[in-house]
Amino acid sequence: MLGTRNERASVLVVEDDASVVSTLRSVLAEDRYGVRVAGSLFQARGLLAKALPDLVILDRGLPDGDGLELCRSLRADPRTQRIPILFLSARKEVADRVVGLEEGADDYLAKPFSPAELLARAKAVLRRTMNKPQDPGLLSIGPLRIAPEAHQVFLFDRELLLRPKEYNLLMAFLETRGRVLSRRALLQAAWGLDKELELDTNVVDVTVGSLRRKLGAYGRCIVSVHSVGFRFDPERLPVPPAPPGSAELGTDPKKRRR
Ligand code: CA
Repeated sequence: MLGTRNERASVLVVEDDASVVSTLRSVLAEDRYGVRVAGSLFQARGLLAKALPDLVILDRGLPDGDGLELCRSLRADPRTQRIPILFLSARKEVADRVVGLEEGADDYLAKPFSPAELLARAKAVLRRTMNKPQDPGLLSIGPLRIAPEAHQVFLFDRELLLRPKEYNLLMAFLETRGRVLSRRALLQAAWGLDKELELDTNVVDVTVGSLRRKLGAYGRCIVSVHSVGFRFDPERLPVPPAPPGSAELGTDPKKRRR
């Protein structure tokens, strides 16, 4: 698995279309990714048994089944549940994307695709995975610090007074590494409601709204995903204010790193 930012990441491509495979091979190899290819679910399972990749790019329509099946089994296995998955599929309806993301994929790109966009999304998914805090004892992301046992959240050392559902939503966002969460998934995460119930998902929007307000400028990290739900994007964290005395970052916003 990937250790540092400069190491080359390994990608498992599960795809049966030779022309797509060839495009992916060249675009990924050009960016120095290591690429292994499986043309079926069976082959993919064989390769995964030998070595774990840093990212899986997964087709839906495969000769021996739906890529969703592999997505489900990867998420169910503790050994593989953190490996990011990017669906690449000709099934481009909103409902298909929702299903893919609800099953735990990190992103979903419809065919035909632009190789540049594919590469950008693969990089974003890998970045989010690497930024995930590893220590469940104290979660820390940018200026946010969370003490799960005490249910306390701090922003720049100032405690945010979150209501329990707001806290649960924030934890759900942070724990899913930027993966898109449907309103239904958020209802389950924060309210513990059963999948079978008829639910008013408006309560999710209301609570996300109040959480965003309490996070102030950091509320923009909670991104609405049209027709699907929300995700937490730490890359939208604003640049922290410069500490007193550090001249180079403080004055000209254009010179700030994002
Ligand atoms: Ca296919």
